[in-house]
Amino acid sequence: MIPTLKDYEKIAGKEVIERLKTSSGRLAGCHISHVNSTSQGGGVAEILNTLVILMNRLKIDTSWRIFKGSYHLFNITKKMHNGLQGDPKAKMTSFRKRVYLEETERNCIMNHFKTEDLVVVHDPQPLAMIMHYEKRQPWLWRCHIDITNANPSIWGFIQPYVNRYDGVIVSMDQYKKPDVTQPQHIIMPSIDPLSIKNAPIREDKRKQVLGKRGIDQDRPIITQISRFDPWKDPLGVVKIWEKARKEVDCQLVLMGDMASDDPEGPAIYQKVRDKIGDKKDVHLITERNDVLVNALQTDSSVIIQNSIREGFGLTVSEALWKGTPVIATAVGGIPSQVIHGKNGFLINNINEGAKHCTEMINNTRLRQEMGAQGREHVRKNFLITRHLQDYIDIANKYITRTGQP
Ligand code: UDP
Repeated sequence: MIPTLKDYEKIAGKEVIERLKTSSGRLAGCHISHVNSTSQGGGVAEILNTLVILMNRLKIDTSWRIFKGSYHLFNITKKMHNGLQGDPKAKMTSFRKRVYLEETERNCIMNHFKTEDLVVVHDPQPLAMIMHYEKRQPWLWRCHIDITNANPSIWGFIQPYVNRYDGVIVSMDQYKKPDVTQPQHIIMPSIDPLSIKNAPIREDKRKQVLGKRGIDQDRPIITQISRFDPWKDPLGVVKIWEKARKEVDCQLVLMGDMASDDPEGPAIYQKVRDKIGDKKDVHLITERNDVLVNALQTDSSVIIQNSIREGFGLTVSEALWKGTPVIATAVGGIPSQVIHGKNGFLINNINEGAKHCTEMINNTRLRQEMGAQGREHVRKNFLITRHLQDYIDIANKYITRTGQP
């Protein structure tokens, strides 16, 4: 059964749901479309899966379009993504620009935005679509990545497209760009506490899914769950584990499914595979499986997020919600989730990572105390209901007509 707003009331509280209903009243019957480039894999798809349903539950006619692309296109857009996150080597050659713009146009021929009152475009892949429409409604660009130190040539390439939008939404205050003249809004991401990935699952079920993959629930587990992406530094996680296991018995799990708009995955996976060789107690998992993600986030002694850049890092809130402390680098949106020494530790290097992993594994009480604080922190700040309210507030600003419920 797909959860109703009533189901969220039990977790978020009655007032939160009442406010959602009241503030969205005039939007009932309005039409909003979200556009992104994958239906599965990565944080954006994860969020839209719930957000779009809940917007409809509030009677806002909300749809979700997928921007289609070839392997070549997504190779190019991943380079753009890397450049926007600060990769100095990323560049848009004339060939890359041509493929990007041609495939954008192809998508525009196939997608019509006529009855929409608001269009929300996520991330750089579908960004340039806006150039092909005679705008009948406001368009917002929702950027999920950390663009603070964007490579100037990539930012220069996308800026004319960004400028066509009526507003921009970023995840953190520090991501606002001084050279963007339109209003810039902040919406922090969130998790769905009722999804298969985040709702409680029985211990025997967890034992079964972990056991099936050779993971021993009765021995300490340290885990990172992230796309195989250089920015998530999985090789650094292997180093943390190698150091920690000299002090304490532990298994390592690296789980990363492959997102269809991220063609770098297989190559990075292979690098990790080569580094691991025939070492015992390491589990590399590439399947897409929300129950397994849930079991790992619940039963690991600690979750690691060793990112070099991280727009937000949903995996952090997902783990904290399950009462599992997180050891993570202090980048992007992570420090708003991990409060150092309270619900996990922020680390600057491999040695700190290994030290805190060992401490966490050896100290059950510390783990439990931090876990309880982590869950509460997520309940207050990073549930989908707060996220939905942020969208309603922004939609109320941009949509001028009153809908027909
Ligand atoms: N994820 C998953 N399986 C995997 C790896 C990741 O379901 O093997 C999910 C993860 O649980 C989270 C999302 O993908 O919901 C990743 O979001 P995040 O913000 O952490 O990173 P992004 O991939 O968007 O950079």
